[in-house]
Amino acid sequence: MTFSNKPILLFWETTRACPLRCVHCRADAIENPLPGELSTAEGKNLIDQVAAFGKPYPVIIFTGGDPLKRDDLYELLAYTSSKGIGFAVSPAVSQFLTIEVLEKLKRSGAASISVSLDGTQKEIHDSIRQLNGTYERTISVMRQAIGIGLPVQVNTTVMKQNVTELPMMFKQLMELGIKVWEVFFLIKAGRGKGVDDLTPSECESVCNFLYDVSKCGIIVRTVEAPFIRRVAKRRERTDYWAGDELYLKMRSELDAFGYRPVAPSTIKPVGTLDGDGIMFVSYDGTVSPGGFLPLGVGNVKNGNIVDVYTKNELFMDIRERRLEGPCGTCAFKSECGGSRARAYAYSGNPLGSDSACFYMHSLKNGAKDK
Ligand code: SF4
Repeated sequence: MTFSNKPILLFWETTRACPLRCVHCRADAIENPLPGELSTAEGKNLIDQVAAFGKPYPVIIFTGGDPLKRDDLYELLAYTSSKGIGFAVSPAVSQFLTIEVLEKLKRSGAASISVSLDGTQKEIHDSIRQLNGTYERTISVMRQAIGIGLPVQVNTTVMKQNVTELPMMFKQLMELGIKVWEVFFLIKAGRGKGVDDLTPSECESVCNFLYDVSKCGIIVRTVEAPFIRRVAKRRERTDYWAGDELYLKMRSELDAFGYRPVAPSTIKPVGTLDGDGIMFVSYDGTVSPGGFLPLGVGNVKNGNIVDVYTKNELFMDIRERRLEGPCGTCAFKSECGGSRARAYAYSGNPLGSDSACFYMHSLKNGAKDK
């Protein structure tokens, strides 16, 4: 599958207002909306622009901040629905996300909601979300949404603070009946600049663990870790990885919980990358390849997102994999391509190499592995 003509997902950061203060927040979200937020009319114009991509339309993800902070959210959802465009909503878990709101989101036609879970202990999750009680509320929201038939995707940001929680988190998600687990690999953007990142070796361990998990009956996706597709490709070939201490610990916990990775992996061999299947529109209409790649290349208030996606040089460079450094010569660049957001965050070059990739470091030493 290629994404040369249209994205598959368009993320719209409807607002930066949010009741939470998460330590790794990309958007640096704050309590009240910032000036310049798209108005209702400008939002509908954006939705019209998404429709201009033609069928099958890209799916719109209403994100934030907290989209529930927008008074016109349901009007925008109804407008999206009237156009036949599929959508999902990514609300913050706060006192505003009640069962009534979940029912309203379901009635509005949302295909799913995504909620964040960063630990299996309230001390870890609440310290990351910086609001006591968020952990218990998150578990309750998941149960309520599943109870009314509203599918839930769980988003987890993996970092030093919670990496060893992953096996237990997986067990918890399975017991709750969660079908999709999206694991974000930290990008040092927004408030995330102050958070301890994983080393490339730890990223490799986590990817191998997630590959195992993807064979245990849950859909696994990663954000800003496209190199998991390299890991999956190799594991499909040999299904063996000697692993290091972190991986062996996580894998032994998975085994101890009774999960056997025997089903086909849910990790797709070809996937999206910021700018390649993904497009992001910020609260004020600025268009960029992805939410973690804050390189504005236009604005929906006075531009056309179809033109930006299909003709902008940066989007085209990413899709054509005109990359530099080890990612540019890597045998896996078409299916992986490296996180463009991480390349930008660390080097200022969105076409540079992904410093979190373990394999990249061997390429620097002249490896020719295919
Ligand atoms: S070197 Fe770059 S393209 Fe190759 S696997 Fe690593 S991140 Fe992906």
